[in-house]
Parts: sequence; structure tokens; C-alpha cells
Amino acid sequence: MGRLPESRSGSPPRRVLVVAAGLVVLALYWSFSDLLCFHSLVGHVPVPAASAPLPIFKHSLCPQVKPLNPTKGDPLFQDIDAYLMSCEGKNWTIDSLSQAVRTPTQLFDDFELPGEDPRWDVMLDMHDFLRGRFPLVHAKLDIHKINRYGLVYTWKGSDESLKPLVLTAHMDVVPVNPETRREWDQPPFSGLFDGNNVWGRGSADDKAMLIGTITAIELLLQRGYMPRRTVILAYGFDEERGGRNGARTIGQHLVELYGQNGAAMLIDEGGQYFIHDDIVMAIPNVAEKGALNVQIEVATPGGHSSVPPAHTGIGVLSRIVALLEDNPFPAMLKRDSTYFRSLRCEAAYDDSFSDELRGYLARAISDDAALKAAQKKLLQLDENLFRAFAGTTQAVDVIHGGLKYNALPERAHAIINHRIAEDSSVAETASRYAQVLAPFATRMNLTLESFGTMYGVQGPADGHITVSTIRRGLNPAPVTPTEGSGAWEVLSGTILSSLDTSERAELAGKQIVVAPGIMIANSDTKWYRRLTRNIFRYGHIGKTDRDGMHTVNEAIKAEGYIEGIRFYTRLILNVDESSLL
Ligand SMILES: [Zn+2]
Repeated sequence: MGRLPESRSGSPPRRVLVVAAGLVVLALYWSFSDLLCFHSLVGHVPVPAASAPLPIFKHSLCPQVKPLNPTKGDPLFQDIDAYLMSCEGKNWTIDSLSQAVRTPTQLFDDFELPGEDPRWDVMLDMHDFLRGRFPLVHAKLDIHKINRYGLVYTWKGSDESLKPLVLTAHMDVVPVNPETRREWDQPPFSGLFDGNNVWGRGSADDKAMLIGTITAIELLLQRGYMPRRTVILAYGFDEERGGRNGARTIGQHLVELYGQNGAAMLIDEGGQYFIHDDIVMAIPNVAEKGALNVQIEVATPGGHSSVPPAHTGIGVLSRIVALLEDNPFPAMLKRDSTYFRSLRCEAAYDDSFSDELRGYLARAISDDAALKAAQKKLLQLDENLFRAFAGTTQAVDVIHGGLKYNALPERAHAIINHRIAEDSSVAETASRYAQVLAPFATRMNLTLESFGTMYGVQGPADGHITVSTIRRGLNPAPVTPTEGSGAWEVLSGTILSSLDTSERAELAGKQIVVAPGIMIANSDTKWYRRLTRNIFRYGHIGKTDRDGMHTVNEAIKAEGYIEGIRFYTRLILNVDESSLL
């Protein structure tokens, strides 16, 4: 700014006013433009590292494929990239997500079956929104409704001999607890975009994926793309309650249409990418733990508590809980586990591990002592985390017993939640109860029925223990093939190319790595196991892009959500032209 003329009065000179007014306008523009269209502060910096040859050491620890860009769709995907980076594209895609959040598809546990409870009809509002917002998808794709609320869109490919690509998401969201409404910084169903985040229940789980996948197809249709390979969008409506009416029936429907292993690949929510120092590690989950809920009921004679036995039913149950916790399931680091492969990728690229641990993990592939040393080190670092990833867990989550302070409890029960290791099973998890409890029952003069088999004393007993399941358990998922698999190559190549070319400031100059991961929770994918071996639980979102899932202040970074749309677009094109599937 040049020298200002001296003022002859007390009021500021005219030019100062003009400059000040200009700055105010500029400031308003900046803040307003933040709302209208946010900008990446750092331009694209090419990141050649992932595509450059890796040192042999790293590559053998954690094999990487080459980034995969669509060739036939070129320059179509570049045109979509440019649109998504334009103000118009950002505003439209962000507004789509905001509007989806404003449709409060809350699913409560006390909903009756679909068709018997009108509260499900809020899902129809979501159908209406999708129909209005994505006109080409609704004009060009076949739409099939499952149990009234589930949606299956089929974008028919020109070559029916090719197995379809399936992209899934769920429309339902967990409810907002009315007691926590005041803790939300923004109203939970506002869908407000503050220039950085889209706020509200469902913004992250799972409407970013719902809107992201359908947007990718709308954008491709706008540019006249016709796929060779069929693409299916499968949207459930009760994932947060186990998917029994949504994804389960959708899965059966798709197996009827395409046969067992009839799909080329399926993508659902789950894994994400992590940014750590100079590394971005994307982790599609290729394994998923199983689950089993076990109820233990102790039945003992009731009566007045003035002459109590040494152990009431509650006392017996307490001892059982203590016994189980004193005998946790073994957790071991195994060479053929997905967890081990994840750890080796971290050892290769992520220096947050100590050199000592990285060394153990590098040698552990053939050195038993190093494998044991790595396990010991991981247990020292975080035993609970190690057990969650390497073994079957147990958590006593419910306990009930007793009715009145002067009456002996006739019944007491506890419920134990298990997450089953990828190489174990429901049967193996259940069998552990007899191993641990049968000697105890004999010692306490109790009978024991564990999953239908009798144990413990034979004669008159002081009480009875019943161990049973609540609903059928879920076996761990078959592990999705990775090394040498075409589906893995296409998926990880697409992740690399998408992140490599992203304009996100957080990703600039970083090396991108893809590592297989294990999911320790469950999603709708359990209902698609027969449809394809190539199930990837991966949402292409950064770990720090999401917050507040299943609690207050759920929000998602708009940049992360838009990067997801870039990824889905590339994936559809790559899968379409790939000969590896
Ligand atoms: Zn979800």
C-alpha cells in the first residue's frame, strides 16, 4: 500500500475508507466463499513415491501394486475430477449430503418388522430425496425394492458374461439420544456445512458412502458413460440393527440373480486411510471377526435370606464371571493372520513403531524367536488392543439377579459378548465354556448344561448353570484374497491412483501405501458372503475426516467425502475395463 495523503480533518481519508471497504468486502467474500466453496490451500503436488520402485526390504514386508488409472474413461474421469474440484461441483455434492442428513432415517431397536410399523416409512422419504436428486440414475438404472425399504439399483452392462461390481451402503442411522441434544454444536439433523464439515447424524455413518456411490454413477451418466460390466448399488435400511430385513434379503436376492460367487467385487463401509507423518496408509478390511453372545443363567433355591447358603445364585454367578475373566481366550500372533500382514506393513512404512519392534516383525516371517518377541512387545504396548486383533475377546456386558433384599435370588444371569478371531469359530468359542466351567460346577456341587450337553455333578445338586446363545452366532468371514488376486490389485491400484492425484492439502507430498486389515466389528457384509469372495470393507475416507459416529457431534470433512466420490468414480471405471476380474 502506498503512502496515504495526510488528512485535514479527524475523519479518515477517502482512500483509507475505500481500502478498508475493499478489505471488508474481501473478508466477507472469503468467509462467504468458505461457505459456498471451500478451497484446498495447497495445490496438487505429485506424489510419485508409491509408484516408484520400493526398496526390496519394504516390498517384501508389504507388497504394493502400481497405481491404476482408467484409460478408456480418460479424459472422462479427469473431467469429473475437475467438476468435483469446481465450486459448482463442491456445492452440489455437499448439498446432496446435507439434504440426505436432513432426512432423519433413525432406526430404533423397538421397531416392529417392516410392514408392521409405520415408523419405517421415513426410509421412503430417503427414496423420494434420491429420486429427485439423482434423476439420471432413476431414469437409466433398474430399481428393485427389497422388503419395501431396501434399494437395489442395477446399471446393466453391455457384456452380461462379466460379473457385476456391487457397491453397498445403509440408509438407516442410529438415533440421536434426546438427552444429549444440547451437547451437539449443531442441530443433529441440520446437515449444516460450516465451510469445512457437514454436520449431523448419519453424515459419516453411512450417508457419505450412500450419497458418494450414487453421485459417482450420476456423474458418469451425465457424461454419457455406458458400462461394459454391470454395476449394482445395494442400499440396506437396518444395518444398525444387524441387517436382518435389509441386507440379508438383498444378499439372497443377488445370489438368486447372479449365483454363488456371482459378483466380481463388493465394497462396503469399514476400513479407512490414516495419515501419519509422511505416510498415508489405506487399510481395506479383508477379514472380519465373528461374534457370539452367550447367556449364563444360574438357578438356585429361593427362600428367606435369614439362613443363606455360603453362595447365593448371585455369588455363584460372580465366581463364574471372575473365572472367565481369569481365563481369557488365548491371543497369539500368527504368521498366516491378517493382523500379522497389517503389522508388517506398518513395520515397513510407519516409523511410529520402534526400530526394535520393526526389526522383530521383519524377521518374524521365518524366525520363531522374532515372532514371539514381536508378540511380547505388542502385548506390552497395549494388551487390550493386541487381544482384540489377535484373538477372541470376551466382555461381560449384562448382569441381572435378585428381586428383593431379603429374598434369596432364584435366578441370576449374565450376558457375554464375544468377538471371534479370524481363525476360530462359533463352535470353538462355545466349547470353551465347558472346559472352564465343568470343573467349577463339580467343585460347587452344581449341574451344568452348556449348549445342550450336561456336565458337573450327577446326583442332587445345589443349583444349576445353563449356558446358551442369544441368537445364532456369526462365524468369522472367509478372508478376502489379496496378493495375486485381481480384485485386490484393482482395488489397491485405484486407492493409490485416487490418493496420489488428490488435491487435498493433508495428502500433499506423502507416500501412499495400501495394507490389508481386519475388521473387529460387523457390518452388512456378513449377508453377502455367498455373493463374492472379494468383499472389501473400505469407505475411502480419512480417519480424521470423521467424528462423532454413534454419539454427539457426528460430522464429516467435506474434502474427505468428495475424495470418496473421486475414488468410487475411478473404481467403477477401473473395474469396468479390467481383465483381472
Ligand atoms: Zn454404518
